[in-house]
Amino acid sequence: MYIVSACLAGLCCRYDGGDNADERVIGLVREGLAVPVCPEQLGGLPTPRPPCEISGDRVMTVNGVDVSAGFLRGAQEALKVAKMIGADKAVLKARSPSCGAGKVYDGTFSGRLVDGDGFFAAMLKAEGIEVETE
Ligand code: SF4
Repeated sequence: MYIVSACLAGLCCRYDGGDNADERVIGLVREGLAVPVCPEQLGGLPTPRPPCEISGDRVMTVNGVDVSAGFLRGAQEALKVAKMIGADKAVLKARSPSCGAGKVYDGTFSGRLVDGDGFFAAMLKAEGIEVETE
């Protein structure tokens, strides 16, 4: 089973109220092989919401508000779903501060990328779940 980013499955949960619909991911959901989750919504963040980036061990909005607690809670809740369905793989949205894997924005809101994982991706990897991005 796959756990997948809900925005890739076509849900409008992205920070700007849009989606990142990906036909491959939608196909996995249709076949009953994947369950979509949005860690940021599960963490209680609103949609739409200000853009956020990881800065050190925190997550900050573009306005300088520390939203780490919501990101952490959302990643924990989404991990519960992953475990509930017995997920062994994940397909997540690249570069997101929750879902990004391998590369995330550097915290300066300038579009620069650095090596690292989003909060949810890091948690899945720590549980031995294989993570790829779209
Ligand atoms: Fe998509 Fe993940 Fe961001 Fe939710 S937290 S909008 S699932 S990238």
